[in-house]
Amino acid sequence: MKCMRCRKEFAESELVELDNRRLCEDCYMDVVSPLKACDPWAVHSAKSGLESGRPQLLPLQEKMLEEIKKRGRVKPAELAEILGAELGELEKNFAILRHMELLRGCQGDDRQVYWTLFAA
Ligand SMILES: [Zn+2]
Repeated sequence: MKCMRCRKEFAESELVELDNRRLCEDCYMDVVSPLKACDPWAVHSAKSGLESGRPQLLPLQEKMLEEIKKRGRVKPAELAEILGAELGELEKNFAILRHMELLRGCQGDDRQVYWTLFAA
C-alpha cells in the first residue's frame, strides 16, 4: 500500500489512518507533531507575537494563520474547505509555518488532529 502523502510503498500494518487518508509513520508525525493536547482557551489568552518581526509570508500562509487565529484551532480538512485550497498544499505550507514556530499540530478531545497557533 502507498502512503498518500509521500507515495512510498509500505505494508498495510505500517500505515496510520488520518482524516480518511493512509499515512506512513513519518508523514503522520510530520502532520501531527508535536502531539500535544489542544487547549483552545490558551489560544485566547496567549499573547499573539505574530504581528511583530515575522518574516514575509505567502498569501496562503497569511490566510491560514488568520483563520486559525480566528478559530483557535481547526482541522486540516476543514481549513482546506474554508480556504478553498488543496489539503496537500496546506500541509506543505503548514510544515513551513511549523518550522517558523507559528503553527503546530495538536490532538483534540475527539482524538482528531487540529492545527493551532504555535504559541497556544
Ligand atoms: Zn509517507
